[in-house]
Amino acid sequence: MKIAIVSNKTKKSERVAAQLTQKIKLQAGLVLEKEYPDLVISVGGDGTLLKAFRQYAHRCELVEFIGVHTGHLGFYADWRDFELAELVASLQNPNRTRVSYPLLEIEVTYQDHKVEKYLALNESTIKSISTTMICDVLISDELFENFRGDGLAFSTPTGSTAYNKSVGGAVIHPSIQAMQLTEIASLNNRVFRTLGSPMVFCKEEWVVVELQWATRYLITIDQQVIERQNIKSVKYKIANQQIHFASTKHTHFWKRVRDSFIAKGD
Ligand code: NAD
Repeated sequence: MKIAIVSNKTKKSERVAAQLTQKIKLQAGLVLEKEYPDLVISVGGDGTLLKAFRQYAHRCELVEFIGVHTGHLGFYADWRDFELAELVASLQNPNRTRVSYPLLEIEVTYQDHKVEKYLALNESTIKSISTTMICDVLISDELFENFRGDGLAFSTPTGSTAYNKSVGGAVIHPSIQAMQLTEIASLNNRVFRTLGSPMVFCKEEWVVVELQWATRYLITIDQQVIERQNIKSVKYKIANQQIHFASTKHTHFWKRVRDSFIAKGD
């Protein structure tokens, strides 16, 4: 098995990544390989796993991920830094399974018809930089509403506990094939009207945001921020690809939600 390690820059994570490297080198059948790994282990927090995903998103169907957290409990990190020996041993288990979760596909079309495609693990947002964002929202090519406000957020189920939750979206179990649309500060009065509540779409649907002003827009894709002029439209759908986690250890999703947002302490 070829393994890549992606660590954040804290002293603790670098120390844990070095220990993990040593253990992998000593284990028969495991080799370190940065370019074409079968398994990517992130050491840090959720942000580190998002970084690792971005690094290997182009071959996400060929890779499994594992997260080791060196700080607070992470949504994408099941293993603790003191469990490295157990983690490495679990990789040798021939009955190891994996869990797969949906990703978001983002297709940006420019006024000159150029198209750019991205994959997000958490979410993608679109916001106008200086003025109110005015756009038409089409669901599976049918006009649904005219939106005015700060912007729109589209999230995956695993991303539903991240930015989506902060803008009033629902927390969705990650095994549900869904994409959630949440409004960011929509203008609602007697003249302008949007639905005003989060919407959840199924795998067969897609949403197109048709922008009405040739102004500068900010599109976020997880940690990535792109600022562009002359965007014509952005299409969002559940991607055909999924993210695969090596299911060597699994924290119950609702327990993780409780521990992260409700329970006191770590
Ligand atoms: P960051 O350093 O700004 O940390 C954001 C926080 O979000 C961290 O505590 C991280 O652990 C947590 N987080 C990330 N993914 C999560 C998930 N799926 N479920 C629950 N919590 C999650 O940024 P980062 O660590 O590089 O992560 C980028 C992510 O941060 C973005 O994808 C976005 O979802 C989130 N974010 C949230 C807000 C907000 O809630 N207002 C603002 C900016 C970014």
